[in-house]
Amino acid sequence: MPEPSESDRRKAAQLPAAVADMRLVDCLAQGLDVRFQCQYCGMERTWTRQDFLGRRLRGRLAWTLARSQASVFCPQRGCGGHRPVVRLMKGGYHDDHADTPEARRTHVVTMLLDAGVLPEEVGL
Ligand SMILES: [Zn+2]
Repeated sequence: MPEPSESDRRKAAQLPAAVADMRLVDCLAQGLDVRFQCQYCGMERTWTRQDFLGRRLRGRLAWTLARSQASVFCPQRGCGGHRPVVRLMKGGYHDDHADTPEARRTHVVTMLLDAGVLPEEVGL
């Protein structure tokens, strides 16, 4: 199989506009995990709720997925591939009671506060 060109890779990584503009905190609110797949070595990793609220990502919760995608490089030794393919996955922790926008907002604010993040810091 021929090596994909730069433009093939750009196409593969292209995010639909609605997804590109989603912030990480929106993913958190909707119970979505973000999966990155390296286009060079195929390595996958997933940001879950635990990662969003963890030390490394909590400062980036206001970032859009487009910005997050651009900031991520493959951690695999000797790879360092950029522009991974991004997929949104339903996390295993959908909260049934949080099914209206207001309930979801309350829920995410509670999660943030529990983790020691001020909602206004992430643009809520
Ligand atoms: Zn890689």
